Amino acid sequence: EEKKSLILSSIRGVPDFPKQGILFWDVTNILLNPVAFQCTIDLFTKQYRDQKIDVVAGFEARGLIFGAPLALALGAAFVPLRKPGKLPGAKVFEEYITEYSTDRIEMHADAIKAGQRVLLVDDLIATGGTLNAGINLVKKVGGVVVEAACVIELPFLKGRDKIVGTDLFVLVEKE
Ligand code: IMP
Repeated sequence: EEKKSLILSSIRGVPDFPKQGILFWDVTNILLNPVAFQCTIDLFTKQYRDQKIDVVAGFEARGLIFGAPLALALGAAFVPLRKPGKLPGAKVFEEYITEYSTDRIEMHADAIKAGQRVLLVDDLIATGGTLNAGINLVKKVGGVVVEAACVIELPFLKGRDKIVGTDLFVLVEKE
């Protein structure tokens, strides 16, 4: 609980970003305090240590920051889910609607093998569109989605109810 309150107090609200009227929760503020950053990785590691995770898949951009150290802590592979045009190899993709726009994520087609146990990681769940796209992408290549994990959930957007095909684990919530 102490770790969660440190994480919660380390997330900064930025009004009117990226648009007028939107309160943007800036999790990069967590990274400024190595104790707070370590707490996020420790809490995720504790949750998934015994879940036989083969692959941690993190969403660009901030899911990469939290996902990569978590993969190392779990002794799992790390797979980046990237914005369009960034990956050099053969890709699979999924399109989705976010809070702000229509978007697409891409993954190397050979990064996840059929039957591998995959944990999806992002910084924040809003409407749930991003996580659903990731779930579909992993399933497309035959991966088994164990769970989706985020640092922070915005419960008023009810994204959790829209997640199809896996459970959601979050560390903290903001109203
Ligand atoms: P969703 O697809 O609507 O759930 O939006 C989640 C995605 O948008 C995640 O990849 C987040 O990084 C990003 N996002 C949406 N709102 C915020 C915010 O307030 N702070 C940080 N990231 C956000």
